[in-house]
Amino acid sequence: MGKRLPDWFKQRVPKVGELTAVSSMLAELKLNTVCESALCPNLCRCFAQKTATFMIMGNVCTRNCTFCAVNKGKPLSLETDEPERIAMAVTKLGLEYVVITSVTRDDLEDGGAAHFARTIEAVRSSEPGTLVEVLIPDFQGSRQALETVVKANPAVINHNIETVPALYPEVRPMAGYERSLELLAGVKKIKPGAVTKSGLMLGLGERREDVTRVMMDLRQAGCDLLTLGQYLAPTTSHHPVVTYVTPQEFTSYIQPALDMGFSGIASAPLVRSSYRAAELYQQAIKQKSNL
Ligand code: SF4
Repeated sequence: MGKRLPDWFKQRVPKVGELTAVSSMLAELKLNTVCESALCPNLCRCFAQKTATFMIMGNVCTRNCTFCAVNKGKPLSLETDEPERIAMAVTKLGLEYVVITSVTRDDLEDGGAAHFARTIEAVRSSEPGTLVEVLIPDFQGSRQALETVVKANPAVINHNIETVPALYPEVRPMAGYERSLELLAGVKKIKPGAVTKSGLMLGLGERREDVTRVMMDLRQAGCDLLTLGQYLAPTTSHHPVVTYVTPQEFTSYIQPALDMGFSGIASAPLVRSSYRAAELYQQAIKQKSNL
């Protein structure tokens, strides 16, 4: 039997009626928000703050991370009109801040970098005032693919390190800790003023000192923003939840992160990569303007 969810996870679940209008519009445009498909507990708050996360390039991934609910297998071909459909949804939802993420597409020569760039450009050309954050895969370490995305000039480039290096073989068997750090450092080499972000899930079996080490490595790679949230296993066949980290323990990471030089950090059980994304971005911009 799985571990019982601690009380601090109890919160208001969005009512179906509240989501109907958004859901039908997304279905019409053949789009999915990660928020909606995962019935994310933060959904109402994010939509109310005019923020949403879209997953592009399909819902089948070429990797096999053991914590992730996304289907694994052979993905379908890219839909060339997807960038425009995303832009249309951003307009219809009146989003001021949009996060665009994807499955990992190791089957594509550029890992989908050009599709990311086209999506950023499509949103910008229809809604110049909307900020776009991208949450990107590692592009198998391709500098060229990374350059394609960086040069499209998103407001934030996020790449999740996900967990501590000792757990990579179990949790992210097809990824590389060093490769992910190099990607984040690479963004700053291509564009020194870029805002970068990363995140970890806690509760997978990591030790506190290892999390601190990862935070230091991220700072070394120039990472500006950090998210820490509780890992919840999607099913019993996924990596198990080893511990439920208390809200107090999450809070205890905040000051050390700021002391290390992160411009902003969101650390709490329900934090996900896109949680308070616009606010964290503003913190990074404020810190940069004070330098
Ligand atoms: S690469 Fe991303 S989408 Fe694919 S299995 Fe891993 S976490 Fe899930």
